[in-house]
Amino acid sequence: MGPQDQPDYVNAVMCVATKLPPIDLLHCLQRIENNHGRVRKAERWGARTLDLDMLIYDDQLINIPELIVPHPGLAERAFVLYPLFEIAPQLMIPGKGNIADLLAQCPMNELRRLD
Ligand code: ATP
Ligand code: CA
Ligand code: CA
Ligand code: CA
Repeated sequence: MGPQDQPDYVNAVMCVATKLPPIDLLHCLQRIENNHGRVRKAERWGARTLDLDMLIYDDQLINIPELIVPHPGLAERAFVLYPLFEIAPQLMIPGKGNIADLLAQCPMNELRRLD
């Protein structure tokens, strides 16, 4: 994503159980990013130390200025779909369909699995 003159980066997907409502979870993710030395710059998708996005939250559809869930880029991003499929191959993504169908539409391109 974004400028090509940035170092390679690692993507991963995780599933968490939480009692936090979505907006509180977002703020928690942002606090973790900040604690990892993330500095917000004007340029979008540039290199940063850590980027934690909320891909889905249960079966919820959220669309407020601060938080869109499912994440709007999810269905087009191989680096999201492939690792998401590894942990949740049966997943139905609210408003977008099942993960296997989305994956079938999304070439791997330069994505490489780390052992
Ligand atoms: P992208 O969201 O396309 O991957 P990005 O991760 O680089 O881009 P950021 O600069 O990290 O974008 O975040 C910009 C804003 O996106 C955040 O301040 C946050 O309010 C908003 N946002 C909206 N939906 C989400 C979501 N599902 N997960 C995380 N942030 C979100
Ligand atoms: Ca992101
Ligand atoms: Ca982000
Ligand atoms: Ca539910």
